[in-house]
Amino acid sequence: MFVRAAGLRGFLARRYRGSMTVIRLADTTWERIRDLDPRRAVAILPTGATEAHGPHLPMDTDVTIAESMATAGAERLSAGGRVAVILPALAYTSARFAADFPGTIDVSPRTVNALIVDIARSLARSGFETLAIANSHFDPDHLGAVHEATKEIRDLGILSVAFPDVTRKPWGSRLTEEFRSGACHAGRYEGSMVLARSPEKVDLDIMLGLPPIRASLSEAIRDGKTSFAQAGGERAYFGSPGEASAEEGVETIGILGDILAEAVEGITGTDESDE
Ligand SMILES: [Zn+2]
Repeated sequence: MFVRAAGLRGFLARRYRGSMTVIRLADTTWERIRDLDPRRAVAILPTGATEAHGPHLPMDTDVTIAESMATAGAERLSAGGRVAVILPALAYTSARFAADFPGTIDVSPRTVNALIVDIARSLARSGFETLAIANSHFDPDHLGAVHEATKEIRDLGILSVAFPDVTRKPWGSRLTEEFRSGACHAGRYEGSMVLARSPEKVDLDIMLGLPPIRASLSEAIRDGKTSFAQAGGERAYFGSPGEASAEEGVETIGILGDILAEAVEGITGTDESDE
């Protein structure tokens, strides 16, 4: 038994060498969480959605991207001396724009708000002082609920929160041209990251044959539209899916990781709960 355990320990040490300060909450034990140094620990909550992403990408596209952002951010934070703890992703949220497409789960903003505040309370009780939200779902109901929740968490003094909303300044300007055009759903931007992370989930034959849809979701939202179909996306995609590439996906995930780590470093020492 000893030999076997020692062998396993060596195997795990080799496998996780250099990433010992990135912890997945779902894979660790309560005692390891209890023993974290609260000043170094950062909890990261990936937030996505379960919603239609065109005829070529999986329903969990946003969750996949949020987890990739969380992992990339965690690696950077851990290289800077932090201990990053990645939480299980929030995969159910408000998704009004996609609600008419079968399979989409649309949760009321009130529920999302309450859930995130409750998660923060539990994290604070566990000893965490800092929460970072790695978000990659841009439905206005969802974004509104997350902003409200982060405000509440700060106002109540539960935790410090970093929520770099890439649809706002200064973050968005660092992302790809298609993203900035507002065609930021199931096109080249998102398709590239799914190709980089979970290529087996992409229907390439369909993807390569999809005509581009140049409509801007940000403009549609400003014009009072409330669904992908109203915004011109009858098949729940926008942009140019056929131009997606794994290379672009790897690059974008890196940028998202930088953004998350910078947002956390931005609150270190300057507690946003005072804002
Ligand atoms: Zn998406």
